[in-house]
Amino acid sequence: MTAKLVQGYEVVIGFETHAQLSTKSKIFSRASVAFGAEPNTQACAVDMALPGTLPVMNMGAVERAIEFGLGVNAHIAERSIFARKNYFYPDLPKGYQISQFEIPVVQGGEVSFFLEVGKETVHKTVRLERAHLEEDAGKSLHEDFIGQSGIDLNRAGTPLLEIVTQPDMRSSEEAVAYAKELHKIVTWIGICDGNMQEGSFRCDANVSVRKPGAPLGTRREIKNLNSFKFMQQAIDYEVRWQIDQIEDGHTIEQATVLFDPDTGETRAMRTKEDAADYRYFPDPDLPPLVIGRDWVERVRSEMAELPRVMAERFVKDYALPEYDATQLTQSKAAAAYFEATAKACGQPKLASNWIMGEVSRRLNSGEVTFDSIPVSAAQLGALISRISDNTISNSAARQVFEGLWNGEGEVDAIIESKGLKQINDTGAIEAIIDEVLAANPKNVEEFKAGNAKALNGLVGPIMKASKGKANPAQVNELLMKKLS
Ligand code: ADP
Ligand code: MG
Repeated sequence: MTAKLVQGYEVVIGFETHAQLSTKSKIFSRASVAFGAEPNTQACAVDMALPGTLPVMNMGAVERAIEFGLGVNAHIAERSIFARKNYFYPDLPKGYQISQFEIPVVQGGEVSFFLEVGKETVHKTVRLERAHLEEDAGKSLHEDFIGQSGIDLNRAGTPLLEIVTQPDMRSSEEAVAYAKELHKIVTWIGICDGNMQEGSFRCDANVSVRKPGAPLGTRREIKNLNSFKFMQQAIDYEVRWQIDQIEDGHTIEQATVLFDPDTGETRAMRTKEDAADYRYFPDPDLPPLVIGRDWVERVRSEMAELPRVMAERFVKDYALPEYDATQLTQSKAAAAYFEATAKACGQPKLASNWIMGEVSRRLNSGEVTFDSIPVSAAQLGALISRISDNTISNSAARQVFEGLWNGEGEVDAIIESKGLKQINDTGAIEAIIDEVLAANPKNVEEFKAGNAKALNGLVGPIMKASKGKANPAQVNELLMKKLS
């Protein structure tokens, strides 16, 4: 459907996303996860697995995993297992990471979204394979100015939910749209702050290419993409690189690669380990994670309406196109603003047009968000009402909006002070039309001879003569009457 070929190759992409869960403390200890502390001030003995310590499950992290599972229509495992993933790395002195392997807490599920392909709006669903709980590792700090590297273990034990998709995406555009939708879901339900600069939401893109109909190609995994822009650039570069390799007669080797934003290139970091290399085994320090149905049901009953569900309701209750409903549910604040505007004016589609048009344009060009927008929903509603009761034209309404944005007062006062009231008086409009017709006999003749375009040469001057204030529908009607 949206599968576009690149030089005759089909692109296949699967995502692994690490979402840092918004708990106050670590996944297996009581140490803080606050960002930006002095190195090694928030690493405790449990996070380092010093002898004699025991990890204890943070139930807040589990609850967030349940919320995510419900948010993507997944199965919540009644019993899942923590495993040790063994590997050596300087930022992991204990030599293993606690993760989930064979039985993850969240199984299956899907993420649906719309994306623009050319002029079309396409609906896409990406299937999730799993989402599992795990701890983060520490960080290596390379201090170039003293020529040394240090290890900061503050991040060790930070709770993560790793969300893994099936290889369902077929272009970099689909991949970015998926990542944005996933970001929206985790921030909407509040399990992750979504801060990509601070690493709270980081994506690994697995990319391969194949001839249409061929089995899956070998993937290379681009690690730690922390902006949507880099994500797109990295995948596009990687796809071209793989195709060039194959066209030159090379085979692709499974590898982990990094994207360098400065050069715009991906480069191999290490050849890729397989699961067997990690010698996973159940962590003897942690009992199976048991989640009763009652717990799941309690979480479900306390969850706010999800963006997908809300969008469906907008389609049903307000008769909005699906595209509008999706755009308006990009954030809770946007959705609330729309609903309040629609209620204030009783014209949901007009409210949607204004929010997706004028309002979005304004928000995109500045620092303002829906939380700090200077035009209240009540004001926008009042403005829309003045358009539909024919007090002002659409172009005048844009001037009123400008006035509202700049804090010049309420809708009616601005219409008054700027002299924007539309002329709805038939007599006054007729007088203007008569003048214009008399001054443009050639257009009148041409129109009567069958040239419909000659009408524009009349409507323009009429609107101009009325200083843009004549009601366009009335102008049209009266003009046609006079010309027939
Ligand atoms: P690992 O941790 O070893 O990378 P996972 O199973 O956690 O393995 O993740 C594999 C990811 O790679 C999944 O998102 C999956 O959809 C994706 N994937 C698997 N095979 C391919 C392929 N041939 N091309 C692109 N993506 C793939
Ligand atoms: Mg991987």
